[in-house]
Amino acid sequence: MILAHLPSGYLSGRDRRRAAVMIGSVAPDRDMPWFWLVDQGQPHHHRFWPHIPAIWALIALAALPLTHWLAHSWLPAVAGFLAAILMHLVLDTWNGGIMWLLPWSNHLHELFTVPATRSHWVLSFMLHPSFLAEVAIIMAALWLIWRDLSGWKIPA
Ligand SMILES: [Zn+2]
Repeated sequence: MILAHLPSGYLSGRDRRRAAVMIGSVAPDRDMPWFWLVDQGQPHHHRFWPHIPAIWALIALAALPLTHWLAHSWLPAVAGFLAAILMHLVLDTWNGGIMWLLPWSNHLHELFTVPATRSHWVLSFMLHPSFLAEVAIIMAALWLIWRDLSGWKIPA
């Protein structure tokens, strides 16, 4: 996914956890500046540690019990942040590839392979049918934002 991570965070986060969920929904892409500015687009940034599920599982194994013991009121926010990271990785599996089986395999697992049919990979992604899922997530988030701002409710 390219554009739908933050909208997916808005869709998933409710009440006071929304900020933590929205930050978590984009947290794995913290590797993008390195990907663009240092590595000049190679290798695939989904091979960097922020996109590795095993790393986040280890972080969750430490963070959740520590939060429970040391700052219990923060547990919903920390759990929401970590769940949003999992959601990010699942969404990236749609057409980008995630190393779900690392350390046993470094294969990038993906549901759809987007061939390089255009001059830039972003164009190839945006013109591939799998991009319709991103459009659907973005439209749903825009609808929810509109609903939240307008106060509109489904009539009973
Ligand atoms: Zn990502």
